[in-house]
Amino acid sequence: MDHLPVFLHLHGRPVLTVGGGHVAARKVELLLRSGAGVSVVAPTLCDELRKLADKGQLRHIASPFDPSHLNDAELVVAATNHRDVNACVSVAARERRIPVNVVDDPELSTFIFPAIIDRSPIIVAVSSGGHAPVLARRLREQLEALLPARLGILAQFMGERRNAVKSALRRASRRPFWERIVGGLVGSRVLAGDEAGARKAFERELYTSQLTSSAATGGRGLGEVYLIGAGPGDPDLLTLRALQLLQQADIVLYDRLVPEAILERARRDAQRVFVGKQAGESSHQERINRLLVDFAKQGLRVARLKGGDPFIFGRGGEEIEVLAANGIPHLIVPGITAALGAASASGIPLTHRSLSQSVTFVAGQVLDDETLDWRQLAGPHRTIVFYMGVAQLSRIVAKLRAAGAPAAHPAAVVERATLPEQRILRGTLEDISDLVSSAKVTPPALLIVGEVAAVGSADALLATARSESGAIA
Ligand code: SAH
Repeated sequence: MDHLPVFLHLHGRPVLTVGGGHVAARKVELLLRSGAGVSVVAPTLCDELRKLADKGQLRHIASPFDPSHLNDAELVVAATNHRDVNACVSVAARERRIPVNVVDDPELSTFIFPAIIDRSPIIVAVSSGGHAPVLARRLREQLEALLPARLGILAQFMGERRNAVKSALRRASRRPFWERIVGGLVGSRVLAGDEAGARKAFERELYTSQLTSSAATGGRGLGEVYLIGAGPGDPDLLTLRALQLLQQADIVLYDRLVPEAILERARRDAQRVFVGKQAGESSHQERINRLLVDFAKQGLRVARLKGGDPFIFGRGGEEIEVLAANGIPHLIVPGITAALGAASASGIPLTHRSLSQSVTFVAGQVLDDETLDWRQLAGPHRTIVFYMGVAQLSRIVAKLRAAGAPAAHPAAVVERATLPEQRILRGTLEDISDLVSSAKVTPPALLIVGEVAAVGSADALLATARSESGAIA
């Protein structure tokens, strides 16, 4: 190890920065965030530093650097763009045994600044020891995405309750208690921004821990269910929260629409259970509901992964009703619904200032539902996205035509949107059924109807694509 990572407590401590430019300003901001008392030596200051000086947040010593400036400094940062000045600061600081950092110059430094992820009071520091700052920054970005935004709030929540737990629980039960807080209901509530729910869950957990003898604390309490939208298929379209909860879940229940690449993002040792509909099964949803409740009652953290968004044609509403009726805590994580995935993947904007003022999602398999107003759906300046409609395509087209939509009305079909095998077919109500059957489109696919379905497909371009690839643009 070239450097020992330590965290300095600088509240109110005198720190000197040499240099008045933008590089110095970045370091000064960081030092101020840590509560240090900052002095800046520089003949002139850049605008940012000037503003801080005017607000009294730093002391400006308007002169060139002199070693006497180090007299009461406990830490020094040199950030001028003259290497000789920086070297002079470095030598003077070392003589006085004051830790010194020269920005981007490890040779002149006795300490270096790591790349940091600030979820105060949790701080993660990453360093490559000056060997590969770009790599360290990349790692920082990856960690940044992985660590929940409210991690600091969770740390604070726990900190505020340390004394209460100390006096309520015996030493041996405290650690398992905190493990349950972090990994269970309380943690997931705080991270989801539900502090009231977290407080209640905490009190319940503390109460049951007090009742159970320390010998019995190995027993698991009630688990919980995360109803997670997995998005249209591309794993990079998962939300950060979906990813975080997938890393936490003990067991993953998934549908046919969820690809392997997304399941791979779950915890390595999590159990996977396929709950897609099986041939000839009529009580499919009841089986899922029963599994969700049973697993949660065994104390497991259950990720229920659904394609797209759980609340768009996903029966998420029914599942949470069952969970609520059984007193099982649950969280809902939205996902990118297939229509949105297909829209970006095909370059078809679902609304458009001059072409479409509204968008409607329709379940294509319930065509005869009397609540659907086909005259309205067939009208101009609106976009209709039909889910689950491939098998019904010619019936959908016939209904729209009968309700007054012109034959030349644009329509597009997006098959397996955002997945590697994605295909986009563009046409009109007149020819879309033929295009789809000759291309042998299979589910999952979406039908988009409306003027917007022609956006980005100039006629010439479309004609070329058709002649080149048999109708697949
Ligand atoms: N909850 C899901 C929809 C489930 S219904 C969501 O929000 O997306 C299943 C239908 O969604 C499929 O029949 C198909 O019409 C559509 N669908 C799901 N994933 C798709 C994809 N990657 N490409 C095109 N359509 C998709």
